[in-house]
Amino acid sequence: MSAPTVEGAAWIKLSLLSHGMVVDDAFAEWFASRPSAVRRRNFYNSPVWGGARSETPQEIVIRSKAGVPVTVAVNVYGDDTWTLTADRGRPALRGLGRVVPVELTDDLTSLRADPGLAAVANLYGGSALSFFSPRACYFFTDGTNCRFCSLHGTAAETEFANRLTPDEVRRAVAEVLSGEPSRVNQVMIVGGNERNLDTGFLRHVELARAVGEAVEEASAEVSVHVVTMPPRDLGLLGELRQVPGIHVGFNLEVWDSGRFEQVAPGKHADYGQAQILRALRELVAVVGRYRAHSILIAGLESPASTIEGARALAALGVSPIVNAFHSDVHSDLGLTIRPSYEVLAEVAVGLQRVHDEFPIQPYWKGCGRNALDFEARHGLFIGDPLDLAVRSGSAS
Ligand code: SF4
Repeated sequence: MSAPTVEGAAWIKLSLLSHGMVVDDAFAEWFASRPSAVRRRNFYNSPVWGGARSETPQEIVIRSKAGVPVTVAVNVYGDDTWTLTADRGRPALRGLGRVVPVELTDDLTSLRADPGLAAVANLYGGSALSFFSPRACYFFTDGTNCRFCSLHGTAAETEFANRLTPDEVRRAVAEVLSGEPSRVNQVMIVGGNERNLDTGFLRHVELARAVGEAVEEASAEVSVHVVTMPPRDLGLLGELRQVPGIHVGFNLEVWDSGRFEQVAPGKHADYGQAQILRALRELVAVVGRYRAHSILIAGLESPASTIEGARALAALGVSPIVNAFHSDVHSDLGLTIRPSYEVLAEVAVGLQRVHDEFPIQPYWKGCGRNALDFEARHGLFIGDPLDLAVRSGSAS
């Protein structure tokens, strides 16, 4: 049974991404009785501080009044503005004088039943089958890792596969699509970077091709998505033509070039923001307008800069991915930065205008738990932001 719809669901998502949530005993007890629900599995990031609970969901879903599902990450920063609880036997959020009914997604039966499959794949946001390879990035070796990234520490303490082969990926996609064909609407490949960027890029293309073959074999309506570093040799981008309809992201992380150097020092030193933009232009020519993507992280630069970047990318035919910054355990930034609701709302209002003007295709089709794009595509940020300011004594 679906949860009731909620007025202002997308604005509530922004508040939740700003504050995170705490998980109370009532929810923990309810969650323990729902073994089919997705448990958080830290493939490459870990925004759960404190570890008070052995298990938390990866995400929750709020039903908007428009009927659009709003998927939100369960990030736990120790801020108790919002509490994930169980209210009369159903999961709900309590905070800022509200009780918000939520839903949880069930994990894939195949992932629960097959530990071998669960070691290589994850269900992201309830509808994306995701693969992370390699679970390492040479920027950590050089000490130039992106300051928000927690991959190195997270990979060291979890035991998922570190490097995937095309055959492993092909088998996993085939198994999921044959057993549960309606559960997945996209497959994503993402991973760290190899020092030889051309080799790393071509490995990601090989994995994407394996996904594409398995999808075609299953005659499934599933899109293939890859986020990677661009190759040095931009002539290699033509290899992406082997995967028809593919979506590809080269992430800028921030638009402001001064901030780019601070936030992503390895990318700055070894490739450069201008060259990533050049690669994105070439990518548009190869994969088609709005199937090229690039992340901008809201909260790591001014809202005006994020919006300016989203607009500039959209004008180039690149679909921006606007993600709210999440504070990860093991990242250099840790809890030092968390964007306020007001900052995220300002970004959302600006992003809505960009979506109203350009035919942006959200990278995540309803499963972007920290992203604002799907909600903007559906017009959920039109109008004035909900008043969700935290006032003294307003959290409950
Ligand atoms: S490029 Fe940056 S964000 Fe990506 S894995 Fe490497 S350090 Fe992490």
